[in-house]
Amino acid sequence: MAATAFACPKRMTYGPCGGVDFDGSCEVSPHRCVFLDVDTVRWARAADAPASSIAIAVSEPAVPVAASAPAASPAPAAWPPPAPSPSERMGKRLEQGNVVVADLPARALDAASLAECAGILASRVDAVLAGDSGTSRVQFSPSHRALLLRAAGIDVWSGLNCRDRNRVALEGELAGLADIGAAGVHCVTGDHTRTGNRPDAMPVFDLDSTELTALARAAGHLVSVAESPAAPPVGRRPERLAEKSRAGAEVCFVNHAGGAEPVARFIRSVHDAGTDIAFLPCIPVVVDRGSAELLPTFTTLVLPEGYLDRILRATDPFAEGIAAAIELGRQMLEIDGVRGVNLSGGAAAGREAWFADALAMIGEELLP
Ligand code: SF4
Repeated sequence: MAATAFACPKRMTYGPCGGVDFDGSCEVSPHRCVFLDVDTVRWARAADAPASSIAIAVSEPAVPVAASAPAASPAPAAWPPPAPSPSERMGKRLEQGNVVVADLPARALDAASLAECAGILASRVDAVLAGDSGTSRVQFSPSHRALLLRAAGIDVWSGLNCRDRNRVALEGELAGLADIGAAGVHCVTGDHTRTGNRPDAMPVFDLDSTELTALARAAGHLVSVAESPAAPPVGRRPERLAEKSRAGAEVCFVNHAGGAEPVARFIRSVHDAGTDIAFLPCIPVVVDRGSAELLPTFTTLVLPEGYLDRILRATDPFAEGIAAAIELGRQMLEIDGVRGVNLSGGAAAGREAWFADALAMIGEELLP
């Protein structure tokens, strides 16, 4: 009997995901990743791409219209001019540079913790990246989380994964995020359910990150994607990012790749391939043993040599962790094409607000 061919457990079309192990094996199986030995899958031309079925009714203030006004009269200029939306604000900040986005360390199902962390970070970073919590697969929906965070006074770059929702549910989230006013939407395929704390849940993967990117862009969002320069196939990661860019991505969060030099090399390759996209490299934030223990949960993590030792062996790991992140952040901001950084990490249970304060202190130093 012929052996059954191994298929991608995430049913990806535009793979590989960022979870390919360093030896080429699949994130959830001992098999070799199916995308390693085939050409990079090209994004379908826009005309071929599935049309969005979203019809977003974004809340707008009612504007009274005078029935007797002549049809040809020019509309009077609104005064005061409408405030820019969070995504317009973020677009301007990306042009300016030194954008600081911080991972949100709040407890996943705790509105008070979300508000507390948002309050600590507000005005000290540009936005929080409110994505999938690595320690909790069950969490508030992205749009509800964004609503709570906006109410607490901070702009939200919302993470959206394809693991837990089908196309229709994702479209609903995109509509909700447009109505709430997300600064950006970060489109990822997501880790497989077998790698988290809910292996009993059915993985969905109706779409992958590239397809979700197109959907989010069609819904009017500022769209970001992730890329992992250190994950196989290393030489073809720039090509894969180019396809995400063709699908609509405008920003790339660069996963931990070992420091400024590997990130600069990756960005040069992307530019050489003719792709123009704004980069926000991830900066690992470690301020105690608890936050250090969370880092290995990040897929294909590579830290700068000696980074963890420097912090954990210091007499004051909190101060040393902040100093190390600021130093690395400044190095990243020097790289051509880098428009900002993402302060990346998580807090040990019970230390969320304390960790948020560390992120805010780093943010204050890196903001222009
Ligand atoms: S590593 Fe990712 S892309 Fe490759 S086969 Fe596994 S799940 Fe699919």
